[in-house]
Amino acid sequence: MAPSPLQQVITELTPLLGERITVNDAIREQHAHGEGWMRAAMPGAVAFAASTAEVSAIVARCHAHRVPVVAFGAGTSVEGHVTPPPGALSLDLSRMTDIIAVNADDLDCRVEAGVTRQALNAQLRDMGLFFPVDPGGEATIGGMCATRASGTAAVRYGTMRENVLGLRAVMADGRVVDTGGRVRKSATGYDLTGLLVGSEGTLGIITEVQLRLHGIPETLAAAVCQFPTLEAAVATAVTIIQAGVPIGRLELMDEVQMHASIRYSRLEGYQDLPTLFLEFQGSPASVREQVALVEEIVTDNAGLGFTWSENSEERTRLWKARHAAYWATLGLRPGHYGLATDAIVPISALGELMLGVREDIRRSGLCAPMLGHVGDGNFHTLILVPPEDGGYERALELDRAIVRRALALGGSCSGEHGIGMGKIEFMEAEHGAPALDVMRAIKHALDPLGILNPGKMLPPVLS
Ligand SMILES: Cc1cc2nc3c(=O)[nH]c(=O)nc-3n(C[C@H](O)[C@H](O)[C@H](O)COP(=O)(O)OP(=O)(O)OC[C@H]3O[C@@H](n4cnc5c(N)ncnc54)[C@H](O)[C@@H]3O)c2cc1C
Repeated sequence: MAPSPLQQVITELTPLLGERITVNDAIREQHAHGEGWMRAAMPGAVAFAASTAEVSAIVARCHAHRVPVVAFGAGTSVEGHVTPPPGALSLDLSRMTDIIAVNADDLDCRVEAGVTRQALNAQLRDMGLFFPVDPGGEATIGGMCATRASGTAAVRYGTMRENVLGLRAVMADGRVVDTGGRVRKSATGYDLTGLLVGSEGTLGIITEVQLRLHGIPETLAAAVCQFPTLEAAVATAVTIIQAGVPIGRLELMDEVQMHASIRYSRLEGYQDLPTLFLEFQGSPASVREQVALVEEIVTDNAGLGFTWSENSEERTRLWKARHAAYWATLGLRPGHYGLATDAIVPISALGELMLGVREDIRRSGLCAPMLGHVGDGNFHTLILVPPEDGGYERALELDRAIVRRALALGGSCSGEHGIGMGKIEFMEAEHGAPALDVMRAIKHALDPLGILNPGKMLPPVLS
């Protein structure tokens, strides 16, 4: 029997990669899924690349044999992004961990795609610099580019879209391209960096990234405030943004999420009530000014006890609890799994959306705490999917209701997690058929054989 296309790729790449290309079951299983609820499927093989040249060789062989390639960073994406189609090669970039250059004078750096944000920040700390984009998981910079990730600091520093200056990427035929550069702006050519950021491994494999850096603020202060109602908490968040306070972080947890987090992260002294977590950054005088303004807004909205502190231990404890919220929620219903939504709307519509969603949750009878980056107009519900028959359908119905509401308010189905497989069904409603046609034309031009992460992002054309 003739060897399969994947077998041919393995044979041709083994002299280059040795044991770094493997069909080992345990390794394939690790690459069968990301986080979250989407079904898993094992790749036919996994290759671990150590350089751009190796990525290029791997992709060129896959192109020659029409083998699908799925880039894999840390596998923390939640919409089935890394789940491979049958006979695919999972291309793992997590061993490309060089921090190639840090240019402190220009506030930028160049890293390989497998560097994690935590590893980068550990290296930058002593230089007084940091990289602000902080999705909850221990994600890689390459994966964060590919999903156009953001996190708690986006309200002040923006998302990967604003913080990536340029890239090196391997295209579907193995060609290596450099996009963007080190300058803060450029008026030349199509924005290939912007095209690849957020492309979820469907247009090219990112191997190096040029990032913007920021100076660690002189003063950081954290504040917490609880509210009698969700309305009051959301109104406070919206007013803070509308008042132009340069807030560092602005997160909300509803009372169900607080119930989970108080127990999971041992947050003593708080009640099961809607809560805002805030961070202020700047000079000591500017922080005090921001705190005073926010305290006034909180009081106007019947906030219960506004406390703030510059103590770094307290700050770390609170933000650790925020980042652990996903795991805290899963602990509420052992045996259930989590379906995370991340709808976003213009900030003025946030209250209407969250109150409508609360009604949807109540009607569904499901447990689904709400939390999120409300300073951006973005929030999550982590729908706990009951394991019994029909549980998944009920969760999906709630998910769809949330997206319908967000779209009707001029929003988007995903502020940060991306499309993968899980949100493909919303693409046409959000973008419209003509825009999807343009996206398909771009995909076809850059990857005519459709080998790069097929089945993700773009809905199939039904004949
Ligand atoms: C608890 C938790 C909290 C989270 N919170 C947030 C949040 O606040 N904000 C947020 O944005 N996300 C969040 N996420 C989602 C996730 O962390 C992000 O999507 C992250 O950017 C994925 O990075 P990764 O390295 O794990 O990529 P992976 O999951 O490995 O891959 C994600 C996608 O990118 C592609 N890809 C990976 N590397 C490359 C590359 N080098 N070149 C081209 N394509 C590539 C993959 O093919 C896939 O399509 C959270 C996830 C969890 C589990």
